[in-house]
Amino acid sequence: MSKALVVLSGGQDSTTCLYWAINEFGRENVSSLSFDYGQRHKIELDAAKKVSEIAAVAHEILPIDTFSALGGNALTDDIEVEEETAETSDSEEESILPNTFVPGRNLVFLTFAAAYAYQRSIKHLVTGVAQTDYSGYPDCRENTLSSLEQTLRLGMEYDITIHTPLMNLNKSDTVALSEKLGAMDAMAYTHTCYNGEQPPCGHCQACLLRAKGFSEANRADPLIERFQFFKD
Ligand code: ZN
Repeated sequence: MSKALVVLSGGQDSTTCLYWAINEFGRENVSSLSFDYGQRHKIELDAAKKVSEIAAVAHEILPIDTFSALGGNALTDDIEVEEETAETSDSEEESILPNTFVPGRNLVFLTFAAAYAYQRSIKHLVTGVAQTDYSGYPDCRENTLSSLEQTLRLGMEYDITIHTPLMNLNKSDTVALSEKLGAMDAMAYTHTCYNGEQPPCGHCQACLLRAKGFSEANRADPLIERFQFFKD
């Protein structure tokens, strides 16, 4: 059976992908990889570790601190996260990306993940990017991912495949999928909030999108339920 490596951020989407991979490749063939890229909120890495424990798969964290040295975004720098979503203008002008966009991040993550996979004879990478319902990050789009897959195959002379099971799903479809795959126990320990708060702040773009997905899927968010449980 082929082996798969899931790029795990500790969030809702990559956790769903982890369970997708377990379902697809078998638990014993799946491992997960997270990046310490100098993110302000290390809580993400704790979440990835916890989620991997619950899913019973091997997990590793690779340090890459260049993004924080580059600066200029709200995920690695001490800049306030913008509350508005990016608006794509009707004209030919480029869309304005929110300041949570870390340029090159997914490209670098997947390239490192591919190098890691190569050394371990893993031929399947799984990532939770989606081109729907998001802040318009260009490195989450299908054309970017298929082009990168091609580049990695050429550049490493290695038959690697990038799987993007959430590419065309909206948030509520993702919630339904994670429920179907049995990911809800792990979902209670995921981290989404851009402000790094736990319990989640409830008003940043990431929290709002997550809440919308669960509400549309008509399902309570196990993460929120976990904190309500402790509060009572
Ligand atoms: Zn938040």
